[in-house]
Amino acid sequence: MDEQSNPAPALKGMGFSPSVETQSDGRALAAEGLPSHDRPLAPGLYLVATPIGNLEDITLRALRVLRSADRIACEDTRQTAKLLGHFGIRTPTISYHTHNENTRAGELIEALKSGGRIAVVSDAGMPGIADPGAILAAQAIAAGVPVYPIPGANAALSALIASGLPAERFTFHGFLPSKEGQRRSSLETLRAAIAQSKSDEPTTHIFYETPHRVLDALADIADIFGPQQPVALARELTKLHEEFLRGTAAQLHATLSARPSIRGEMVLLIDGTRTAASPASAATHLTLADEVAALIRTESLSEKDALKRVAKSRNISKSEAYREWQRSASRKA
Ligand code: SAM
Repeated sequence: MDEQSNPAPALKGMGFSPSVETQSDGRALAAEGLPSHDRPLAPGLYLVATPIGNLEDITLRALRVLRSADRIACEDTRQTAKLLGHFGIRTPTISYHTHNENTRAGELIEALKSGGRIAVVSDAGMPGIADPGAILAAQAIAAGVPVYPIPGANAALSALIASGLPAERFTFHGFLPSKEGQRRSSLETLRAAIAQSKSDEPTTHIFYETPHRVLDALADIADIFGPQQPVALARELTKLHEEFLRGTAAQLHATLSARPSIRGEMVLLIDGTRTAASPASAATHLTLADEVAALIRTESLSEKDALKRVAKSRNISKSEAYREWQRSASRKA
């Protein structure tokens, strides 16, 4: 039977199969009376989401598919062995990662074309999302092989829904470039796109980030979008030390800078709503003196360096920035 026409049992009243029974040990029974994990798996490619930290986030369907597949193609077989060991799954594994994606895909497609059932997993979360999987899916589709998503944990969406930032519209960008120049130009392009957008609809931009680059990324955001730019950082999602930091780019930079070390996996989110993001607000609400003061505070820059940075981000000369800064100092005095 086709996997799509044979969905796993689910809750009554939610538009899924209503005829679900439960065994004495709590395991779900499918409509036909077989334990869900014993049902035959249809041939095809299964893209299986795995936990991003908390092992309870594996789904019953993912376990059934991983148990019943002929082979599991893993980003890192040692990493997946831990997950499979935890759930007592003995399905053979094969490596499928960025470096052998193209060659291995050919081999897997041949197995799929002859009726194989292959599951693909990455180290964590959804295959294909900043991880291998998408190339194989595209090749399987081109070869006429059925492709089934087995949904589950994903860091970007988990971060988004609890960030407090708009969740109805968003753009996922993957990792920001690691090189400073490329990172700044990506952010500048994004800022320009937001500024030119004709819509004021709430939107969020989602990035994967690393602990050793997050301070630089926040400093660049504060610099390019303005220190008051609303952002959020989701760290160690679903794990023991899960943490959300919410505030402005300057505030998050200051909070993280004050820590002896920055660790863990993280997702960085920028509020891309035109009226919230700083292309407009930096110009209208934040004075040059505010920006200089924020840079001195958050990045311990000297007055001279802070002025230089602000002059560059506002595309004005250093002497012009200096005069504006003096004018605002005399207004305050
Ligand atoms: N495929 C995964 C997914 O669906 O989320 C993403 C894989 S990508 C190679 C790994 C990055 O995802 C990490 O560097 C981090 O930015 C983010 N990430 C993964 N797990 C996370 C977690 N538990 N908490 C926060 N971010 C996480």
